Amino acid sequence: MPPLLRPDHAAMLVLPPRQGTLAATCDVLVVGGGPAGLGAAIGAAQAEARTVLVERYGFLGGNATASLVMPLMSFHTQHTHREIKGDTSLVPTDHGPGDPVLAGVLAVFLKRLVEAGGAIAPTLQTGYVVPFDPEIFKLTALEMLDEAGVEYLFHAFASGVIKDADAVTSVIFETKSGPVVIRAKVTIDATGDGDIAFGAGAPYELGRAEDGLVQPMTLMFRMGDFEKERFDHFIKEHPDQWRGVHGLWKLIQEAIQSGELKLERDDLLFFATPHPDEVSVNSTRVKKVSGIDVWDLSYAEWESRRQMKQIVRFLRRHVPGFEKAYNLQSGSTIGVRETRRIMGEYRLTADDVLSARKFPDVIARCTYPLDIHDPKGTGTLLQRLPPGESYDIPLRCLIPKGVEGLLVAGRCISGTHETHSSYRVMPVAMATGQAAGACAALASRRELQPRQVPWQEVQNELLRQGADLRDIRSQRMPDSSASKGAPL
Ligand SMILES: Cc1cc2nc3c(=O)[nH]c(=O)nc-3n(C[C@H](O)[C@H](O)[C@H](O)COP(=O)(O)OP(=O)(O)OC[C@H]3O[C@@H](n4cnc5c(N)ncnc54)[C@H](O)[C@@H]3O)c2cc1C
Repeated sequence: MPPLLRPDHAAMLVLPPRQGTLAATCDVLVVGGGPAGLGAAIGAAQAEARTVLVERYGFLGGNATASLVMPLMSFHTQHTHREIKGDTSLVPTDHGPGDPVLAGVLAVFLKRLVEAGGAIAPTLQTGYVVPFDPEIFKLTALEMLDEAGVEYLFHAFASGVIKDADAVTSVIFETKSGPVVIRAKVTIDATGDGDIAFGAGAPYELGRAEDGLVQPMTLMFRMGDFEKERFDHFIKEHPDQWRGVHGLWKLIQEAIQSGELKLERDDLLFFATPHPDEVSVNSTRVKKVSGIDVWDLSYAEWESRRQMKQIVRFLRRHVPGFEKAYNLQSGSTIGVRETRRIMGEYRLTADDVLSARKFPDVIARCTYPLDIHDPKGTGTLLQRLPPGESYDIPLRCLIPKGVEGLLVAGRCISGTHETHSSYRVMPVAMATGQAAGACAALASRRELQPRQVPWQEVQNELLRQGADLRDIRSQRMPDSSASKGAPL
């Protein structure tokens, strides 16, 4: 084992009381600058709320940039249907033209990213995923926050909340300048881990029902000087070695048998980036660890880098096209797929996903399959929606039980372990973020709690901001936005 700190009998100490700097009083505070936080901050600012975003790192993007999680997964309908056990491909090789089911902030962000040369637009050729460049992602995100009028603070880690009865009123941040406090009428938890909701005492779930295990963590990395033509030629000669974006099964088995490689998954998974001589590798796996446990996180960083070293060596020695390739960059932090799922007024189920269920209070839509990297084993379970279908995410999944003044967005919204594996992807996180932002802005303007805002008004604001909520407008009575939308 590595010489990592892991106290066996941790003693709890009482800490000295302290003071903090009150840095701002705003309408909407967004904690976390990942895809959900970006959507939330822009959604709130577009609804004319004074909005502050706070992020623990010195840049925006969350998993997309800090963990090099690439590409943005598809938000398009798929026109063929299959269920594959042990297939780690996230891109169906046999699907036909798809229609996007998300728009709003995501659509504008993608347009800007493509125009800046930082992404390839989603088409049949890309499998409807969006390969992007993480540096241009960071810059584009920053520019969009500036233009929306969002104020922000970097290098500030949220460590606690201040409540008045059941309502979150302020968040405490640890910074190099000492503790900083920000007051807000409504706070949006876009930390991915539900840190704020947890601090406020909201109920949550962790892991799968049978044993509490979560999906593994993965350290992503990029290989530069990759010769795509040589690789493609090899695959053409050995079609049994590759499917879609993953494979090399035989080469892997040989390397495992010779003792050269120890791989925690069945195959290697590559994604293209906007740069032709580069690939993104999604192939390390650290299992039975928790992304909200500092001791596990430290171990996972150590273990995943050892795995990466072996994989890079294997690619360079044995895989045509990688002979001259080098490890260009790894994530500045390991990618964490799954932690707390905050329990909301509705909990999305696998049945909702697979039956493409629709809800009257829809605020975002998703086409992405259930995609569970085995918490214990080497495979991945992929279960798709019916062809051409999407499911709705209701506003109630963003409203935590028992806590006021707070919304959740992104991967910590309310759903089961299985469902989380679908709605966690970045385009959907951005869309639930935008919805949380719109709801928070309306609540702050009308001095309401988020759960008291009529869902029709949130939908109207989202439609005004360009969101795609399928055909809800045509199903509404002309005056329905005036009706009192009590929580369903
Ligand atoms: C290895 C891996 C591969 C994946 N593959 C894909 C893929 O190919 N395509 C895809 O679309 N999705 C993929 N996903 C899923 C996707 O990356 C995440 O689910 C998505 O980023 C969730 O967005 P989010 O904004 O909710 O959270 P995050 O992206 O995790 O962002 C949370 C933000 O909050 C900040 N933060 C956290 N805690 C605090 C705190 N206490 N104080 C202040 N700031 C804080 C973080 O620094 C971060 O910036 C993958 C995930 C992983 C881990």
